[in-house]
Amino acid sequence: MMQSHAYQNKNIAVFGLGKSGLATARQLHLGEAHVFVWDDDEARRKAALEAGLTVQDLFQKSWPEAEALILSPGVPLTHPAPHPVVELAKKAGASVIGDVEIFLKEKEAGRVIGITGTNGKSTTSALIHHLLSEAGKSSALGGNIGTPVMDLPEQDEDGNYVLELSSYQLDLTPSWHADIAVLLNITPDHLDRHGDMAGYAAVKRRIFQRQTEDDVAIINIDDALCEHIATCLAIHGEGKLIPVSTTTPVDGGVAVIDGRLEDRSFGDQSWAMDISKIGSLRGRHNWQNAAAAVAAARSAGLTPDEIRIGLMLFGGLSHRTEEVGRRDNVLFINDSKATNAEAAEKALTSFENIFWIAGGREKAGGITALEPHFDRISEAFLIGEAADSFAATLKGKAPARKCKDLEEAVRQAAEAALRSGKKDAIVLLSPAAASFDQFTSFEARGDVFRAAATRWIEEEGA
Ligand code: ADP
Repeated sequence: MMQSHAYQNKNIAVFGLGKSGLATARQLHLGEAHVFVWDDDEARRKAALEAGLTVQDLFQKSWPEAEALILSPGVPLTHPAPHPVVELAKKAGASVIGDVEIFLKEKEAGRVIGITGTNGKSTTSALIHHLLSEAGKSSALGGNIGTPVMDLPEQDEDGNYVLELSSYQLDLTPSWHADIAVLLNITPDHLDRHGDMAGYAAVKRRIFQRQTEDDVAIINIDDALCEHIATCLAIHGEGKLIPVSTTTPVDGGVAVIDGRLEDRSFGDQSWAMDISKIGSLRGRHNWQNAAAAVAAARSAGLTPDEIRIGLMLFGGLSHRTEEVGRRDNVLFINDSKATNAEAAEKALTSFENIFWIAGGREKAGGITALEPHFDRISEAFLIGEAADSFAATLKGKAPARKCKDLEEAVRQAAEAALRSGKKDAIVLLSPAAASFDQFTSFEARGDVFRAAATRWIEEEGA
């Protein structure tokens, strides 16, 4: 854990007391800054008071002449409109920053590996951390995933910080610099918060800012915006550029084509391996994540053999095409994180003979975009508010039935999969809808799926 002395004896305000806001406020407080904190939520204010922090309504009293405002990444900085607290801070001449900015001010040693992109950030970050750890290197994983940066264990010269960054966090980190920076992809998302695609791409591109000739820029070149950024980096960038692709072999880069990974990022020391059988890295989207992670691990000094072993031992992340268990020919996959059609498409295209559990709170467009993949669906089991609408889209294209709840859907899908006798019948929870009509979160939904699947698996022979 990193105490922050950068603001010793200075006033600093913290707005938004989620996990990362609270951690930052605590470390600043321990570093003898005068910290004023606020959150609209009373329970969070209470937790801050109990942690010995000064709670002050940043709207009611005069601004506390703070040097800086630490803003939670969930609060709008610029679009659709700056939050009133941002306006107040700026008027008072305070800089508006996030916890990663404080972290970088305090960090004394250790390599920073930063990962951003519209999709795949968590998987890629976790995979890089896993590869480093399996190879016996010291690594701390945090940021947008799991642990807030200020709570990470401090690293020495040989250690690594693997940081997942959302575009919001990048926006709040003017001094950002990564020794190894990864940009996975840029597709329309969060445009409400960045104005337009150009604005969104400009923020994502900042993952490479301040890089020097000792640094490494890893970028997927399969989407047009990223390819454009790669071309600019090739001309103007200072660091080593490693392109990655899942469509075409790349000189000086890493490609995964039809499941075959080929690493040519370090000239004559190229090597290859088949990753198509690694359950936690199914699907082209995961091959993209694997290619980027391999490039990062290689740049951090891992050998091909260390990477090979690490890839084979990767268990994947919960709720993202996660293998939950098997009974006879029936394999259960938990992809509860797929809260929209775009994400569910990744799972649907990774399997065949699918007994598909879908539904929840419907997103705009429903599952219409998934029509080209309906032939992979043996039967759909529909739950939640979206059940009728999804049934209407599936009508005449794939058999579907409505189920009372997720538990019933698991049981019915499992029985139907078993009866089908198909080799590798997949019971797939990939809801293409939000969870909030029935659950508190996608994690809670995935946990119910896992428990119901496990019960059914254990009933065998009982
Ligand atoms: P993030 O942290 O960016 O939200 P995750 O690694 O948690 O990404 O993956 C979330 C979902 O996004 C996965 O379940 C999958 O459907 C999809 N996904 C993962 N990696 C990619 C990728 N490289 N490109 C497109 N979609 C992806």
